[in-house]
Amino acid sequence: MSKRILCNKARCKTCGDIIESVHVHDYKTCKCGKIAVDGGKEYLKRMFPSFPYQDWFEDLSVSVYDCSKCNKTFTEEEACRVIKNTEGNAIFCCPECGDVVSYD
Ligand SMILES: [Zn+2]
Ligand SMILES: [Zn+2]
Repeated sequence: MSKRILCNKARCKTCGDIIESVHVHDYKTCKCGKIAVDGGKEYLKRMFPSFPYQDWFEDLSVSVYDCSKCNKTFTEEEACRVIKNTEGNAIFCCPECGDVVSYD
């Protein structure tokens, strides 16, 4: 069971530019230079001036999960989400067979 990044992109709220990192060392900066994306389909890296990031960009990336048990591919929204009580971590399960996906 693993998470797979389909698309790594973000829209700058300052200049409206949409930037996408297509491969792991593809560092892209928007027109005004306020934000940048990196990591391609390996990891989602974001550069921005200050928190909260919502002030600077809108995340347009898409990730899916692959279930190793039943081979179903599903999005975060489709996964059965269970909140762990003790540490408050989110646990995602396959909507098809219930196999555990990941701990955030
Ligand atoms: Zn910008
Ligand atoms: Zn499954």
